[in-house]
Amino acid sequence: MSRLKGHSNVFTVGDAAPDPYYGLAHTAIAHGRYVAAEIDRILSGEEGRPYMQRENAYAVPVGPGWAAVSVSGLRLYGRAGWFLWKLGDLRFWASILPPLEALRVCFSDWVRTPSELSEVLKGRSEVGRSA
Ligand SMILES: Cc1cc2nc3c(=O)[nH]c(=O)nc-3n(C[C@H](O)[C@H](O)[C@H](O)COP(=O)(O)OP(=O)(O)OC[C@H]3O[C@@H](n4cnc5c(N)ncnc54)[C@H](O)[C@@H]3O)c2cc1C
Repeated sequence: MSRLKGHSNVFTVGDAAPDPYYGLAHTAIAHGRYVAAEIDRILSGEEGRPYMQRENAYAVPVGPGWAAVSVSGLRLYGRAGWFLWKLGDLRFWASILPPLEALRVCFSDWVRTPSELSEVLKGRSEVGRSA
């Protein structure tokens, strides 16, 4: 996030902004939230606040049961990464669906039963997706 040179009331956000973490949706969302709050502060006559750049969590799923995940400096690869990635999905689904339905939707594209989930976590990659 930055302001256009010579125009303190024009903001550049998302992929257009000179942020080391640009190119990620979460960075663009963080920029949007900051700018909305900053405009609110300007309109209320409050002091502006600096934007704090930060690395957001990201995940790269690679096939059934495997993902590379980075969260707050913690990097997990493999099944642990895949499970953490799925927990991130679950957080979203649980925000709009009842808990059991959220679980079903979150895992149904990979596994249909608890035993299939267990197989995926053990590394039996032929399970899932083929359904
Ligand atoms: C194929 C692909 C996959 C991706 N996957 C991921 C991912 O898994 N995770 C992740 O974090 N990020 C991912 N990204 C990156 C993420 O999509 C971008 O970082 C994010 O969308 C940037 O948001 P933005 O608001 O800056 O730009 P955009 O989301 O591109 O929004 C810009 C908007 O401006 C509109 N626009 C352009 N010109 C004009 C104009 N002249 N007048 C009016 N409107 C205009 C466009 O139509 C568009 O709607 C992916 C990007 C691509 C291309």
